[in-house]
Amino acid sequence: MSVCVVGHSNPDTDSVAAAIAFANYLKATGTDAKATMQIGAADLNPESKVVLEKFGLAAPETMTDAGGKDVALVDFSDIGQAPANIGKANVVAIVDHHKIGDITTNSPIFFYAKPVGCTCTVLFEMYKNNNVALPKNIAGAMLCAILSDTVNFKSPTCTDADKAAVKELLGVAGVTDQDGLFMEMLKAKSSVAGVPIKDLIFRDYKDFDMNGKKVGIGQIELATLDQVADIRGDLFKAVEAVKAEGRHSVLFMLTDVVKEGTDLLVVSDEPAVIEKAFNGTIKGQSMWVDGMMSRKKQTVPPLQKAFGC
Ligand code: MG
Ligand code: MG
Ligand code: MG
Repeated sequence: MSVCVVGHSNPDTDSVAAAIAFANYLKATGTDAKATMQIGAADLNPESKVVLEKFGLAAPETMTDAGGKDVALVDFSDIGQAPANIGKANVVAIVDHHKIGDITTNSPIFFYAKPVGCTCTVLFEMYKNNNVALPKNIAGAMLCAILSDTVNFKSPTCTDADKAAVKELLGVAGVTDQDGLFMEMLKAKSSVAGVPIKDLIFRDYKDFDMNGKKVGIGQIELATLDQVADIRGDLFKAVEAVKAEGRHSVLFMLTDVVKEGTDLLVVSDEPAVIEKAFNGTIKGQSMWVDGMMSRKKQTVPPLQKAFGC
C-alpha cells in the first residue's frame, strides 16, 4: 500500500508543495508514496494553481478519508486539520513547522519538525542532508511555498534557514528573479475580481477563544489596498454578519504586503479593547496597523494580552 502524503485541510501552497516533495523523497528513499490533498483539483487556491502550472506539476490526488490508509502528514499535526477518520489511519511520518498538535500514534514514527517559516524548508534540509536528488520542478514548487509562507522573507516567522533554502532552490529551479516570482504569486493569490465576498472572508479565517470570548480573525493579503477599494463596504457588511453569529469581535485583516501593514476592519462589542491591543484608533470601520503581517505572531498575541488571557 503506498503511503498517502497529505497536508492540512484548506491547503495552502506549502501543504501542496510539501506533499509533492515528501512523496518524491519517500519514493527516492525506497518507500512507495503518493502526494494527496484534502480537496479536488478544481478547489485549489489560485496561488497554488499558478505554482503547479508554472513548474509543470500535476495536482496531488484527492484524499478526504484516511481510514485504513498509511498516511504521512506535512504542514500540520492537528486532528482538526486532518482528513476524516485519521484515528483509523496508520500515521507513518510527520514533517512540520508548527507547534506539535494532538495526533498520537501507537508505534514510533518518523517525526521531524523545526521552528522555521515553512515545511518545505524542513524538507529541503532532508533532501540535502541525505543527498537525495531534488528534481527541478519540485524545487520550484518548494521555492514558491517558502516565499508564500514567509511572505517573501517579510514575515516575522522567516528564519535564516528559510533564506538559505531559497538561495539554493533558486539555483536548482533555474529562477533568477525571486521578487518577480513572488509578485506573480501574490497577484494570483490576491485577485479578488469576481470572488464572492463570503469566500474572501473565509479564505483564511480562524476563530479564537479569548478569555471566554469568541473572536474571529480573517486575512487577505493584497499587493495594494486599491484592489479592494470597490468592495470595502461589502466586506465590512460581511464581517458584521459573521460577528452577528454570536461572536464578541470579528477582525478582518486587509494586509498590504508591499507597504508592510494591515488595514484592520473591526466589528466588536468592545472596540476600545481592540484599539488598546494595537495601540491605535479606529477611524470609521478600520484602523491601520503598521508592520502587521502575521496573524499568528502580530495579531493574536496582542489581542490575547488585551483580553487578559
Ligand atoms: Mg500551511
Ligand atoms: Mg506551512
Ligand atoms: Mg500559511
